[in-house]
Amino acid sequence: MHQVLLIGYGGMGQWHARHVRESGFAQIACVFDIDPEKRALAAAEGYPVCDTLEQLFGLEGDICIVSTPNDSHLALVTAALEAGKHVLVEKPIACTMEQVDQMYDTARSCGKLLCVHQNRRWDVDYLAMKGLIRENRLGEVFRIESRIHGSRGIPSGWRNEAEKGGGMLLDWGIHLVDQMLLLFEGDRVDLVQCTVSRHTTSEVDDGFYLTLHMESGACGYVEVSTCNFIPLPRFYMTCRKGTAVIEDWRRNAQVAECIAWDEGDVQPERRGAGTTKTMAPRDSLTVRAYELPRPELEPYRLLQNFCNAIDGKEPLLITEDQVKQVFAVLMAAFRSAENGGALVKV
Ligand code: NAD
Repeated sequence: MHQVLLIGYGGMGQWHARHVRESGFAQIACVFDIDPEKRALAAAEGYPVCDTLEQLFGLEGDICIVSTPNDSHLALVTAALEAGKHVLVEKPIACTMEQVDQMYDTARSCGKLLCVHQNRRWDVDYLAMKGLIRENRLGEVFRIESRIHGSRGIPSGWRNEAEKGGGMLLDWGIHLVDQMLLLFEGDRVDLVQCTVSRHTTSEVDDGFYLTLHMESGACGYVEVSTCNFIPLPRFYMTCRKGTAVIEDWRRNAQVAECIAWDEGDVQPERRGAGTTKTMAPRDSLTVRAYELPRPELEPYRLLQNFCNAIDGKEPLLITEDQVKQVFAVLMAAFRSAENGGALVKV
């Protein structure tokens, strides 16, 4: 069984501790947090703790999970790799592209695995969209819209500080761009266009509107808002032969599949103060409407893959190349936002 040294026992560190314990693939060998209260909490919850990083790295554990604020990832990941540990670091892996390059170079020179916890690849809403595209039921994909809407601003603390790597682009942006690149697998992002909001924050973005122009001509759109009291659908996809929508992560995907493009005699419909034939609704003769069954939940797949990769049983699913592509898109999004939403080459 793999032994995990966990750095950081805040919100996500506590999640990792429970997750490792429940997974059956690994166990927590020790927890370290710079905050003595967090160390006391970990001890009270039954985990071995230590008081310094040096003590932690001196232990036998072969995996180090880094779950601390974003600006601390570079130093902690580097130290863990140099101490001979395989590292699973929370997203975002780092705050700049140079740091990302440096971390993977260190992993290579230490001969250790480095993986980023881009865990929302296993969200069932995303997997439902991915399955629909893989089966090619709706033909050519024109546009995919992916949104997360909340209404509580950014939780207090380091997430509001620019120098700590705060803001929503580096937070939810990583997950949603990672998903979008996988939905458009085989295609590449050519240009991005991004504007950010600061409705509830002063230093960092509390939301963003990001368009990915793919080389194929298709378009991905990613939107995060933390000051939005009526959420728009989580996913909305338009294709040559139909449309799919997922209202939110608790709901199944709704699909409208076009089974006949041409209709006989379309009657104009009264709408508002006028009438329209263009926007008249379809009927069941030309469109088949159905729900997709929910994909199977695989809550431990990322951790299982990391352990298997250490054991040489399978390659890492979250690859260096993918992590760098996501990061390159995010960095281009920052440049676009700094230039008033200009089109920026990735
Ligand atoms: P948090 O503020 O709740 O916890 C951070 C913890 O790290 C605190 O207990 C703090 O004392 C400790 N810490 C800070 N610097 C440290 C250091 N140098 N050494 C040891 N401990 C240190 O933050 P969080 O919400 O747990 O976020 C932690 C990381 O997890 C971030 O990178 C965040 O982006 C990521 N995260 C990922 C997900 C996901 O679904 N993948 C969800 C939430 C957070």
